[in-house]
Order: sequence, then structure tokens, then C-alpha cells
Amino acid sequence: MPKEMLKQWKTTDSADLYGIKEWGAGYFDVNHDGEATVTVPFRSGTVAVRLNEIVQGSRARGLGMPLLLRIENLLDAQIARLNESFRKAIREYGYKGTYQGVFPIKVNQQQQIIQELTRFGAKYDHGLEAGSKAELLVALAMLNNTKSPLICNGYKDREFIDLGLQATRMGYNVFFVIEMLGELPLIIERTQATGIRPNLGVRLKLAARAGGHWSESGGDFSLFGLRTTQLVDLVDILKNAEMLDCLKLVHYHLGSQIPNIRDVRHAVHETARFYVDLADEGAPMGHIDLGGGLGVDYDGSRTNFVHSMNYTTDEYCADLIEVIMTIVDERGLEHPTVITESGRATVAYSTVLLFDTLEVSRSEPHPLPDKLPEDAHEMLLNIEEVYRSLSLKNMQECYNDALYYREAVRDHFKLGTVSLRERALAEDFFVEIMRRLSALKNKLKRVPTALETLDDAVFDVVYGNFSVFQSLPDAWAIDQVFPVIPITRLNEQPTRNAIIADITCDSDGKIDRFPDFHDVRRTLPVHEIEPNEQYVFGVFLVGAYQETLGDLHNLFGDTNIVSVRVNEDGSFDFTNEMPGDSIGNVISMVNYDPKGLLRMFREKAEQAVRDRKLTVDERRRILETYELSLRGYTYYKR
Ligand SMILES: *Cc1c(COP(=O)(O)O)cnc(C)c1O
Repeated sequence: MPKEMLKQWKTTDSADLYGIKEWGAGYFDVNHDGEATVTVPFRSGTVAVRLNEIVQGSRARGLGMPLLLRIENLLDAQIARLNESFRKAIREYGYKGTYQGVFPIKVNQQQQIIQELTRFGAKYDHGLEAGSKAELLVALAMLNNTKSPLICNGYKDREFIDLGLQATRMGYNVFFVIEMLGELPLIIERTQATGIRPNLGVRLKLAARAGGHWSESGGDFSLFGLRTTQLVDLVDILKNAEMLDCLKLVHYHLGSQIPNIRDVRHAVHETARFYVDLADEGAPMGHIDLGGGLGVDYDGSRTNFVHSMNYTTDEYCADLIEVIMTIVDERGLEHPTVITESGRATVAYSTVLLFDTLEVSRSEPHPLPDKLPEDAHEMLLNIEEVYRSLSLKNMQECYNDALYYREAVRDHFKLGTVSLRERALAEDFFVEIMRRLSALKNKLKRVPTALETLDDAVFDVVYGNFSVFQSLPDAWAIDQVFPVIPITRLNEQPTRNAIIADITCDSDGKIDRFPDFHDVRRTLPVHEIEPNEQYVFGVFLVGAYQETLGDLHNLFGDTNIVSVRVNEDGSFDFTNEMPGDSIGNVISMVNYDPKGLLRMFREKAEQAVRDRKLTVDERRRILETYELSLRGYTYYKR
């Protein structure tokens, strides 16, 4: 065997292979023993904790797999990163205004998340954005700092408006953002009735739009925001109502996950122009709210690919400040308070989904025969010939031929001219050819593009104890790519390629898109998984949108959840533990009464006793199992 093939696999090779340093943003890494870690920044330096240690601790507390892990420190770290980046840009440009962030509650409404964000965010006057009445109620109760903005978007009925007005009187920093002109009469009426002056903002419909999944949140096709003519009407209506002095903010939201910084610059430029002209119209203004859209680099490629972003947080902040300052300075206006509504970037890192594997379906050929029978089908003989002639020199040709002949054999099988056993033999030759090509490919300095997809031609299916629909809905709905890695054995070279199936038995319940530096890869390198091994995968960057968008497909419920806080000395505390849904819970959500079901089943068991199909003892046992399951976890229990 050539020397380079014997090279010892190092943990850094795993880090490279899975791109951990690229998408991990400094928060995730591999330690010397080949275990994935979460790395938490402190003033005195960073502290790394093994994910597997958290998994073990959680299991010991009775919360097994699948498990959603929240790391509180990473919420704090991201809030700090965003605010410090803006402060740095403000210092560097000599900007005279301040920055205030708000967290849009819809991105992760869970109480533990909002509680931590408002607790830690208080020192930065970091506020909340509410898009509905329910979110407003949450925000009013959770905000600890009345200087923090409370931005109200969405449809606002009388109750919503009255709550916001009363809160303004209490001293909250509430802004009503007008999304359509129709909202205005009610706001004016309630203002006059209560005598409380609201802070008003207006959502703009920009010509600018961004690339990526959510491109239509901006531009002419966007659903929300006022067109330019409507904006002029708004000013006139407010003037007439003697309320133009309430108009203090412009807002837009281009859509989530903006991959290209150029789009960010275009949008802020256009908005700043609206800002200065509204000030000219006589509105006091003072705030410019640039919405969400700050990206997360899911594949770590730092490009303008949909799953990535071609800018850093520092660059994002610097660009916003610079553009606003330039345009506002031209008019000699005061520098406004800059607000952003970053959701995804704030919470994505804080949550990791962990699940164990149940089984592996391997693509494993039988031993190949030394010689095929004389009368074997011609296409089978052809594929054998490819196998025998394979060498470093004709890899490309063999790859194409193998694909071609396998297809031909499958076609002949359909016609009845190739038998079951012949087809099986052809598939075995095919897998063996792909394996040998794969081994040869690793020796090449430069891999021809046509061979890049080779690893995806032969793969295992690993069955994981989780539901894509419950825990990773975007992976199913919009082909979102999330980084996935095994959390142990990273000091060993993975020798197999796999896709991951969940336990919903739905053909869409799978992960078969993984981050890659160019494009997306369809299979994931994994280790040889032993039959009884607790091989655990982590799915990273899942803190934004996934929890509440998840649903009860196949009646798999919420997973167990633990929150941990890492301490400066390397220890960690379980700050919150929430058992996942029981089967009783989930069936209640689709309107069954668990007690009623038990009663119905008990009657059926009684009938079985009468019919002498069950003994009384057997009846008792099956009813006990039924009851135990009703109280138990919806996922696979070991
Ligand atoms: C969803 C939403 C956001 C959050 O966007 P991110 O890309 O997650 O930061 C911000 N503002 C509004 C109005 C939204 O609807």
C-alpha cells in the first residue's frame, strides 16, 4: 500500500472533512480524543465541553434521545457579537447615533429562549419584535428594560392597539409599525380616545430585493409595506389628524437569510433615502429599522450561495452604518438610532438536535464470482468487463460505462430478458466498481468534475431516532441544509457514505443534503456503525424557526429538551429540563381522549376474554403495556 494511504487519520482531518471550523463560527470543534465540543467564550478565554458528556448527563436525568440541546451561553454570545459589532462600526465611523437590536419572537418563541435573550440583552437595550397579539403579550411580560424597543408589526386590532397605547403610558418604548393604510383610522381613533401619543413607524415596500429563499419578501411582489404613493397618503392623513409628530421610524424587511451583502447595501440605501425625505415632510423620525436578514453560514463556504453568506457580522454592521451616515449627512440631519431585527443569526447557533441511530441498511455486494456463466446476459458480461479493466487510466470511462450498463440491465429486467439473479449480480459488480473507483479517486491530486459525485453513487441508509417533520421541518419543506456530524469517533476515518432516514416511515423523512464547500453533497461520510453501538449524530444551527414550525407527522411529538449553561471552570449546569410529549399528549392534540381510548381498548380486550382468545392474565398484561405506552415517549425507547 502506498505510504499516503497509511497516513494516520487525525481529528483535524475530521474537522476539515465536515467543515466544522467553517460553519461552527468558533462555537463548535473537535477535541484531541475525537469528540465534538461546544466552545464557549469567556473573558478569560474559551471553555470547551464535550457534547457527549452533556448527552450522558441528560440520559442520567431520564431524558434520552432524541434530545434538543440548548446552550444558553451561545445566545448571550450572539447578542454580544451583534451589539459589539455595531458599537465597533459606530466608533470607527464616528457615528453619533446608537444601535438597538430587537429579537423577532416568531423566530423562536420558547420561553427559555426569550427569557435568556431579554435577561442578557437588557444591558444592550436589546428589545423584542412582536408580529401578533400573542407575541405582544409575551413581550410585555418578558421585557426587563423599558428603554429596549418593542416593535409591533402585523395586523393590529383594537385590543392590540389599546394594549400598546397603555404600555406606552407605562413607559415601554413601543412602536406601532404601519403595514397598510387600513390600520391608520383605528390607530388615530384610539389615540384620540385615550389621549396617549403613540410612536409610529411605517413599513416600506422597497424596489430593492434580495436573493435566496425569501427573495419575494422584498421587491414589488412583497406582501407587506406601503407603496410610495401610499406613503405620501400616510403623511397627509397623519398631518390632517395632527399626528405627524408621532411618525418616528421607517422599517423594511427584505426576507430572511440574505446571502449577498450587495443586496443589503441596496436596501439600506433606498431606505435611508425614504428616511431623509420623510424628515423633509416634517416628521420627527429618529429611527431606522432595517429588519432581519442577517445570514447564517450553514455550509461554511462564505459565498453568496443560498445556504451561505458572503459577508461577516462586522461587515454587515459597518455597511449599514456607513450608508445611513452618508445619506443623512448630505441633508445635515441628526444620526438616527439604528434598529435591526435579527432573528436567525441570533438563535441558530444555540440549539443542537441530537439523535441516536437504530439500524444501518448497507449497500453490500455478495462476493463476486471468478467467472460468469457462458450464457450470461450480454449487458451483464459488459459490466463484468468494466470491472476487470478498471485502472487509474480509464476511471472516467469506467464510471460512465458502469452507470450505463447498470441502467441497461435494469431495463432488460423490466422486459423480462434479465433474471432476478442476473440483476443482483449486475448491481453487485456496480457497487464493487464504485468502491474501487472511490479508492482510486483518493489517490488523484485533482479529481475530474465528473467523478466528484462518485461518493454519492453507493451509500448506506442510516436510520435515526428522530422525525424530520418535527425537528428539522425546513430540511423537508425548503431543502434547507444543516451541518450534521457524528459527535464521537472523530479520531477515526469515516469509511462509509450514508444518507439518514428518520423513523416516520415517510419517504420524505430523510436528510440527504449536506453542506459542502461547493454546492451541496447528497451523502455524509460516516463510520462503520456497530450493531449495538450508541452512535449519535448532532444536527447543528437549528435554533431558528425549526421548533415551532415542526409538526406531528406520524404523531411523533416534541423531543426531550435540556438547556445547559457552561461555567468558566469548564463545568456545566442543567438549567432547564423538559420531557418531550407523551403519546397521550400527542393523541390529545388530534382530539382523542387518552382515557376514552383506554376504555374502548379495555372493552375489546374483555370481549377477547369472553371469546377465549385471551386469558384474564394476558388481558391484564396487554392493558398494562397500553397504559404504559400512553404515558411514554413517542420515539424509539431503548
Ligand atoms: C421574520 C422576520 C424577521 C427575522 O428575520 P431573520 O432573517 O430571522 O433575522 C425580522 N423582521 C420581520 C418583520 C420578520 O417578519
